[in-house]
Amino acid sequence: MAKVYLSAAAHATDNPTKCPTKCGENVHCKAYMDIVEHRLCELGVEVKRSFKEQTGDAAMRNRVAEANAWGADIYYVAHTNAGGGRYSMTMCYPDKPSIAKADVFHKYRKCVKSHTVRTRTDLYEINATKMACMYDELFFHDNAEDCKWFHNGGMELLAEETVQALCEILGVTYKAPSTADSKVKELEARIKTLQSENDTLKKTVNTLTAKINNAKNALQ
Ligand SMILES: [Zn+2]
Ligand SMILES: [Zn+2]
Repeated sequence: MAKVYLSAAAHATDNPTKCPTKCGENVHCKAYMDIVEHRLCELGVEVKRSFKEQTGDAAMRNRVAEANAWGADIYYVAHTNAGGGRYSMTMCYPDKPSIAKADVFHKYRKCVKSHTVRTRTDLYEINATKMACMYDELFFHDNAEDCKWFHNGGMELLAEETVQALCEILGVTYKAPSTADSKVKELEARIKTLQSENDTLKKTVNTLTAKINNAKNALQ
């Protein structure tokens, strides 16, 4: 079974964002990672994501140590960026296999205007992991428009693209989430229709019963 270790941004002091409601980089990266985790599990990928409440260097060290001991196939990191840009970026170590994997992220990252692959050798999680580390900077959280987008469906789009990329990298068959979801929605709509039809029938029965009672009374 394919094994992925997930590490959402956990800054010692959370970075303020331009989100529509009170938020933070740690806060919305955690929410994003919840979706990635849920979807990967659904698709049969083995996922580990520990030290969720820890922050700073301790969180990174514990997570990397656990991923290395566990023997994850991929270590996936998600942050959001600051500094005035409007692009998405996947960072990795500058070895060929890592770059090839980051290129798969590039292929699937379509919900943002532009996406770039960058190699880094100065980030702890990229350096200390034994397996390939894919380090996403999803979007810029100092751009109010992009923050609004993220919190109005963008987060789900980013997560699904990430899941597609990870599936391809791991050789796992990808299935869109819509099948089960749309079935449930279809059935819920049918229940609503049946309930309103039932209400109409009840009203008709009540009206007819009243008429019968009136007729009976008239006969007496
Ligand atoms: Zn946010
Ligand atoms: Zn960050």
